[in-house]
Amino acid sequence: MARNDRQRLIFLGPPGSGKGTQAERLARGFELEIIATGDILREAIRNRTILGEKVRSYVEKGSLVPDELMLELIHQKIDNKSSFILDGFPRTIEQAKGLEQITAIDRVVYFKCAPEIIVKRLSSRRVCPKCARVYNLITNQPSHNEVCDVCKTKLEQRKDDTESVVRERVKVYENVTSPLLEFYRSKLILIDANKDIEIVYQDLWKAIYG
Ligand code: AMP
Repeated sequence: MARNDRQRLIFLGPPGSGKGTQAERLARGFELEIIATGDILREAIRNRTILGEKVRSYVEKGSLVPDELMLELIHQKIDNKSSFILDGFPRTIEQAKGLEQITAIDRVVYFKCAPEIIVKRLSSRRVCPKCARVYNLITNQPSHNEVCDVCKTKLEQRKDDTESVVRERVKVYENVTSPLLEFYRSKLILIDANKDIEIVYQDLWKAIYG
């Protein structure tokens, strides 16, 4: 795929596989918009919008928001964009089928990652409640004890990043989302996401543009 081609990508992978981090890196300089459904929902919850109130209980428990609601949201977000990365969507076959009615997809990247690595990564993740910057207490520490480098706000743990909820999210992912790998077989790129961020990025870049 050439760098200037239209790119409609889906990033699939369990929570904590690093797909959000990789999406951000790939999007830099490629005029790709990231549509991350988890981020959109969390912002709606924070701002107490109608959508936020509808989805709050699902997101906080780590269960999936109903397909109908997600498809409505994604339809609005994709609008007429010609290039984008979908991060966190689709998560079910119903969503994938609904997406086909909205737009065509070029490639689907699957970030494969072991459950124990996921639990370790997510339970050490911290976010800034003010500017949304993401840190990791093991791999990407803030300069001062759990305080945001940028806005000096005390960092927090996402409600769904505690160990028990992470395990639930991984289980949900395995049960509901893995069939998507079969659905997208002809467009699938497999990436080993157990490795370090930089190596995963190089593998991703080569797989898409190499
Ligand atoms: P994420 O940040 O992608 O791990 O998403 C956090 C939470 O948002 C999930 O555990 C779900 O509750 C909800 N969510 C995000 N994307 C979807 C989706 N495509 N379908 C259903 N629920 C979603």
